[in-house]
Amino acid sequence: MSEEIKKYHCSVCDTDSLTLLKHTGDAKIYKCLKCGSTIKTTSPEEDQVRISTADYVKQELRDEYSRKRKNYHQYIYDLIFKFSGKRHGSVLDIGANYGQLLEIFQKNGWETFGIEPNVKCLTQMKENDISAYAQIDDLMDDENYRNKAFDAITFIDVLYYIDDPIKLLTKCYNILKPGGIILLRTYHRSYLLFLRFFFKNIVNLVYGDSKIDFSIKGLFLLGQITGFKKDNITIFSEPGYIRKEGGLRLIYDIFRIFRLNNILGPGIITIMKKSNS
Ligand SMILES: [Zn+2]
Repeated sequence: MSEEIKKYHCSVCDTDSLTLLKHTGDAKIYKCLKCGSTIKTTSPEEDQVRISTADYVKQELRDEYSRKRKNYHQYIYDLIFKFSGKRHGSVLDIGANYGQLLEIFQKNGWETFGIEPNVKCLTQMKENDISAYAQIDDLMDDENYRNKAFDAITFIDVLYYIDDPIKLLTKCYNILKPGGIILLRTYHRSYLLFLRFFFKNIVNLVYGDSKIDFSIKGLFLLGQITGFKKDNITIFSEPGYIRKEGGLRLIYDIFRIFRLNNILGPGIITIMKKSNS
């Protein structure tokens, strides 16, 4: 997507209502006046660097990462059961890393598919009998799976790296079974941007290497644009207890008492369910 298009077009709610919020080095932060999401420009080169060097793809960190995320992946698995009512089926994880989340589904008898552009991760998944592809289009072009429809599609900390989330989610909607669900894990931190008046580095802290900070309203609009009915979209904050390591748990618990966790919690879960009819 070109810089000019990004400049004026909100990739979350599909409106031309972006306003420039902040320059930071080469990057620019835009805010959507309709949905409140904020978008940071990144270049394809930066995206490529992230895919090849991010901590999560480092082989030496793989086991540590798997161990740390074990409870979390179980939590996601349980959510899929809770919202789909299915103990078995087919699941597609977009941005599947080494396939750690999919391994839980696999152990429980699910048919597992992963999308992951990093070659090391992709190879590992294939070795573990996960059907893995670099891009979603590769899956859709594969004759063996062309007519595949999924019971669940997951995006864990992935959607905010995507240039065109509407296009990608629409593809996912089309390969979702009736009654199937998409689960998105994102965070919502752009409320912290007001701190930019006090701290120079806040933009990097807020965004890290991501390019979109989805507002709650933006997530609802995104779901509806891609085909889901508003009543079939559920958005909630992750409970703080998932973070059993580190000192943040107490802070999240305090947020919950004051009902601030929806904006200040560690992550936002969005569940979109496709109608049965
Ligand atoms: Zn918007």
